[in-house]
Amino acid sequence: MELLKQRILTDGKALNSDVLLVDSFINHQIDPPLMQAIGDEFARLFKDQGITHIVTIESSGIAPALMAAIAMDVPMVIMKKSISSILSEELHQTPVYSFTKGTTYQLTLKSQFIKKGDRVLFIDDFLANGEAALGAARVIEMAGATVAGMGIVIEKAFQPGRERLIQAGYAPISLARISYMEAGVVEFEP
Ligand code: 5GP
Repeated sequence: MELLKQRILTDGKALNSDVLLVDSFINHQIDPPLMQAIGDEFARLFKDQGITHIVTIESSGIAPALMAAIAMDVPMVIMKKSISSILSEELHQTPVYSFTKGTTYQLTLKSQFIKKGDRVLFIDDFLANGEAALGAARVIEMAGATVAGMGIVIEKAFQPGRERLIQAGYAPISLARISYMEAGVVEFEP
C-alpha cells in the first residue's frame, strides 16, 4: 500500500535494526484518514473470504481492525492481554510471549463472542516473530472458528513471523513489508 509506505518513510522511525516507531500515525497518535484507507484496503483484499468477524489484540490492533470491520460490515472483537491464567468455560486463553516487552501474557477471549462456524479475519499492526498471530490463531481455533485470513499493517519481513505462520498453515497478507532496517533507515520489499 503505497500511501502507507510513504508515511512510514516520512514519519516512521527505525530505532535500530529491530524496532520501528510508528507512534505518530498508527499506535499512539492515529491518523484517521490513513487508518480508514488501511481498513478499506483490508476489506478489498479479504472481500471474497466469507469473513463473519474481525478479531484483533489490544491495543494497537484496534484502530485498523475497527476500520476494516466498518468497511466489511462485520463485528469486531478485541482479544485481551490478561496477566493471569484462568480456567473457565467462558474463556479461551493461550500464553503469548511478547518480544517487544520481554514478558508473557495470557491472550484471552470470552467464548460468547466467537463461535464454531465463524470465519475470522485476524488483524494486527505488526508482524515480527509471529507470536501474537500464532497465539490469536490458537484462540480462534479453540473457539471452533476458522482463521479465514490474517491481515497485517506492517510486516518486518526480515524477522521469522511469516515463515512460522506459513509453516502453521496460514497465509498472512501485509500492507507494507520491510526488508531491512537500521537506525534511521527503512527499506521495503519490492
Ligand atoms: P510478534 O508477536 O509477531 O513478534 O510481534 C507482534 C506484536 O509486537 C505486534 O502486536 C506489535 O504490537 C508488537 N511489535 C513487534 N514489532 C514491533 C515494532 O517494530 N514496532 C512496534 N511499534 N510494535 C512492534
